[in-house]
Amino acid sequence: MNTQHALNRRHFIGFLGLAAGSSALALTPSRALAGFRLADDPILAWDELSKGVHAMVDASTGGNVLTVASADSVVLIDTKFAHLGRALLTDAQGFAPGDAKVVLINTHHHGDHTGGNGSIVPKAEASYAHENALPRIKDSFSSVKASARQAKKTVEGGGSVELIRSAIRTERAAAKWQRTSIVPETGVSGEKTSITAGELAMDLYHFGAGHTDNDLFVHIPEHNVLHTGDVVFNGLHSFFDQTAGYSTKGWVNSAKRGYELCDADTIVIPGHGPVGDRSILKAQSEYLEQLIEAVQAEIDKGTSKEATANKSWPFMEGLGFEGIRGRAINAVYDELAG
Ligand SMILES: [Zn+2]
Repeated sequence: MNTQHALNRRHFIGFLGLAAGSSALALTPSRALAGFRLADDPILAWDELSKGVHAMVDASTGGNVLTVASADSVVLIDTKFAHLGRALLTDAQGFAPGDAKVVLINTHHHGDHTGGNGSIVPKAEASYAHENALPRIKDSFSSVKASARQAKKTVEGGGSVELIRSAIRTERAAAKWQRTSIVPETGVSGEKTSITAGELAMDLYHFGAGHTDNDLFVHIPEHNVLHTGDVVFNGLHSFFDQTAGYSTKGWVNSAKRGYELCDADTIVIPGHGPVGDRSILKAQSEYLEQLIEAVQAEIDKGTSKEATANKSWPFMEGLGFEGIRGRAINAVYDELAG
């Protein structure tokens, strides 16, 4: 998904309610300036899924982030928006030993999954995305840099002291960012790419165009954990981007192939929505199959695109992101009507 509209609702820990323009340092009810902040206190709100495995799952701050710490490395999968990149990196490093090497993976190019790259790519030992993602991320440089230059303003009113500090540092650093600062070093291709971060082995899978033309699954067998990127919107309508080289039928295929990577115990982190198990991959492919079927039936009846976009069907009821329901129908209509 690639929208910032939901950013005003925040779920950060340590709300301060700072007025715009007031000094972060002057208002410090937290433990931070009292000197009690432990080195491993995270800035952001994380869920520990298993030992060394943390997810930041929050519909209001962009795509879900997963970190996996091992003895000599920490892997960070996706980076939300520009104002959060530095805090994500700080927290990820806090989950690992002091000298752990950072490895970054982007599941696809959308700005709510790559916006924080500028704070992380230059400090990473290695960074990966699908090869089709690289030029798209590069093209987002101006808007990402502009967002980073507004980082403090973005977090004010809902951020902790530590987050505001992090945003101030992001603003300063962003002045020196180049295009290469936000683009992962390595573009992968092919169906399966095996990589390592120190001693941790990971597999990156690309099953063809789906949500975008550069979707990657990140599978970490040692922890039996899978990040699906935006191939899965759990409990939410799916976001379609007409500029991203999407394929709804390909998306169904990707979700099904992703399901095959799992067993009954696999922890599955979707691009958006709560963490689940492999059943969320099944729900995603079923949503898309029913959407294709419903829209095709309207096309066959001669229903206009506008009238079809206003329809709803039982499988679409009760999901979050209601505002993008019509967008999903339109995208599928365009694809099927060709
Ligand atoms: Zn996306």
